[in-house]
Formats: sequence, structure tokens, C-alpha cells
Amino acid sequence: AHEQPYEALDVDTLAQRLGDVEEVASRVGGNPGQWQIREVGDGNLNLVFIVSGSAGSVVVKQALPYVRMVGESWPLPLYRAHFEYYALVRQAQRAPGIAPEVFYFDKPQALIVMEYLHPHTILRRKLMNGEQVTQLGEAIGEFCARMAFRGSELSLSSPEKKADVGLFSGNVAIPAITESLVFTDPYYGAEMNHHTPELSPVVDELRRNTRLKAKVQRLLMKFTANTETMLHGDLHSGSIMATESDVRVIDPEFSQYGPMAFDLGMAVANFLMAYFSQPAHRQADELDTYQAWILEVIEACFTRFDAEFRHLWQTERTGILFPKALFEAQGNSADDACDALLEEIRLDALAYCGIEMHRRVLSLAHNADFEEIEDTALRAKLEARNVLMGQALIMEPETYCDLSALADLARAYNQQE
Ligand code: ADP
Ligand code: MG
Ligand code: MG
Ligand code: MG
Repeated sequence: AHEQPYEALDVDTLAQRLGDVEEVASRVGGNPGQWQIREVGDGNLNLVFIVSGSAGSVVVKQALPYVRMVGESWPLPLYRAHFEYYALVRQAQRAPGIAPEVFYFDKPQALIVMEYLHPHTILRRKLMNGEQVTQLGEAIGEFCARMAFRGSELSLSSPEKKADVGLFSGNVAIPAITESLVFTDPYYGAEMNHHTPELSPVVDELRRNTRLKAKVQRLLMKFTANTETMLHGDLHSGSIMATESDVRVIDPEFSQYGPMAFDLGMAVANFLMAYFSQPAHRQADELDTYQAWILEVIEACFTRFDAEFRHLWQTERTGILFPKALFEAQGNSADDACDALLEEIRLDALAYCGIEMHRRVLSLAHNADFEEIEDTALRAKLEARNVLMGQALIMEPETYCDLSALADLARAYNQQE
């Protein structure tokens, strides 16, 4: 069936089309006619099925040739599924255990069969529900550090890195979405934008900030031109699934080579948006404790990123960059160079964080943390805190490099009327 031209799956045809694929049939088990099949895609783009049988369950994810949340009027190439697959394979090598295991890939059908994460649920929901996840910040910081380091020329050989950058440069349409929706649209009245009406004064003020817009475009320039490492590219809290003690990362179809700081900044932005939206989701007696926990997650995320990156720097520097021989011949170490690089990554991560905080309340794709607050006056008040903190992070990241200064800033905006 998989040699046929592309055709979207549905719950009625899936068993017939995948029933004879050994990698699927052996894991699901039993007669394909008896498989239980549910479509669970809640994302903006793709079909996602959970397929269960007598032996177990798998997830089948298939790209659609258009943007699901908009419809056929917005075409989007199927090849993004190929890059999702390439990214999942690289994540399994570079940060083992965090991405779902891939069982089967059908390129013409733009289809990936992967491990069913269970009883994991989407982190964004957990944060909205006030659930804690042990070692959340540590897991995400470690993932970002491993991917940043092991996808760069600190680790890879020059030919390997160039081949990979070449491969991923074929992913064009998806990075174009990030280039406009994340970096550009929030800062002017782009057609697909929307925001909470009561937020307008803050939005108008933000869009008058020419220095801010220039800084954001410089960060876009880094994002497009700097192929330091392979990014996840869409590391928001809807791309993280967790139980109370296990953290996994899904959905790397936005993968591209880009700056080491990008994924880290985007993840932290999603923690901060969970933080600022809490007053709408928590009773007063739980609010302080839960918000304090989110700030600890952010600190742990940055701290573990640095610790893991430093560890890899000391133990796995096998690429062309900062070769040991260059530094150690005279008995010097390259540790200071590592610290300087980490500081640069921290600064850029804070600025990318600010941009993600903006685009989620100003551009096309909003997040449920704010969007599900029905009282628009309250929503606008909380969104304003988020927008203003984002602006501070873009304008003067050096002031908030220190993690206690960063937490103080969040707490200060959290009090603002
Ligand atoms: P999209 O690219 O359309 O956003 P996602 O990969 O984010 O698709 O998947 C959409 C939803 O499907 C997720 O929010 C999650 O609920 C579910 N899902 C995706 N992959 C898995 C998986 N491996 N195990 C369990 N559920 C999954
Ligand atoms: Mg998704
Ligand atoms: Mg999703
Ligand atoms: Mg996706």
C-alpha cells in the first residue's frame, strides 16, 4: 500500500493500508480488522492516530498538504514529514531517550509510525492544571544542551556537518512560517494577526518601538544565517509530553540548522507564559506555590543547560572547533572560552524568549494558557505583563543574564496592574 501516491489516512482506511506493514503489525498485534483507531491530532498541522491492538499501541503521524488549522487555502509541502523523521533520528542519537522511538517511515505517504507515549499528556495542559513534573527544567535544559553541542562543529566533523546543513536546507516552507509568524508579524499589523482588544494600548506602544524591531530583525538574521546546530524549531509546551516524573519531546517538523540559543529560549518563554497566565487558572491558596515552582523550573533549565554543555565541552570536543591541541599545548585550558560561549547563548536565549512571548499573544498561533481565559479584561492584564517582560528581555538581555535578576523581573511584572 505504501508504494501508492500520497493519500491522507483516515480511521476507516488505516488498518487496511498499514495492516501488512510488519513494523506496525508486529507492535499492534492481532487482526488489523480489529485494531482500534482514534484520530487525536490537536495540533495546527497534521493527522495523528493512535492505533491499538492485542500487542500494544503505536502513533501514526501523517502530514497533510495544507495547514490543518486554516484549510486547503494554505498549502504546505508534505516533505516537512521527512524533516521530522530526520530530526527524530538525530535526536535519538544526540539526546537518547527523550524523543519517541521511530518504528517506520514512509516517505511518499509523509507518514511516521512511532512510540505511543502513555500515560504522558501535553505539558501545556499540565501547567494550566497546576500539575508539577519532577526534573522538568533539568530534562529540557539537558535536551537543549545535548542537541546544541552534538549538532555543532564542536562535535561533528566538518563533512558530516555540511552534509546535514545541506539536507536540512531543503526544509523551506516550515522555517518560512517561523520567519514571518514568530519574528515579523507580531511587530506590525499583519493580516493574520489578532490580539485581545483590551491589549491594544500595549500593542500599539510595542509596535512604535523601532529599536525593538531592529533588534528582533537582527535576531531573525541570526536565526536564518547561523547554522550552528540542529534545532527542534518548535519547542513550546505543546511539543513536550510528560508524566509526573518523565519528560519527552515530540513534533520536530520545524527542525532546521540555526542558533544554539533558539530552542532554549522558546522553551523558557513557554514556562514564563504558563507563569503569567496562572492567576486565571489557580485558586489564590495554590497560586504562589505553583508560580514559585515554575520559576524554579526556569532556573533549573538554564542551569542544567550550562552544566551539560560544559560537561560535553570537556569530554566530547571531537569536532573542528576549539581543538584541545590549540589550547593545551601551552598548558592552557579552553574553559574560559566555553564560559564566554555560554554567556552569549544565555543572552540570545533571553532575546528569543522575549520574541516567543510576543508572538503567542500578537500573531496567528496563540497558546491556550492565555487564549482560554474568557474574561478578556483579565486576559489582557496578564498578557500585558507577558508582553512587557518579553520587551525587556529583547531590549536588555544582559541585565537578566543573572538568573535571580530574571526571576525578580518575572515577579515584578506579575504584580503589575
Ligand atoms: P502537530 O505537528 O500537528 O502539532 P503533534 O506531533 O504535536 O502534531 O501531535 C498532535 C497531538 O498528538 C499531540 O498534542 C499529542 O496529544 C498527540 N501525540 C503526538 N505524538 C504522540 C506520541 N508519540 N504519543 C502520544 N501522543 C502523541
Ligand atoms: Mg505539535
Ligand atoms: Mg500539539
Ligand atoms: Mg507540528
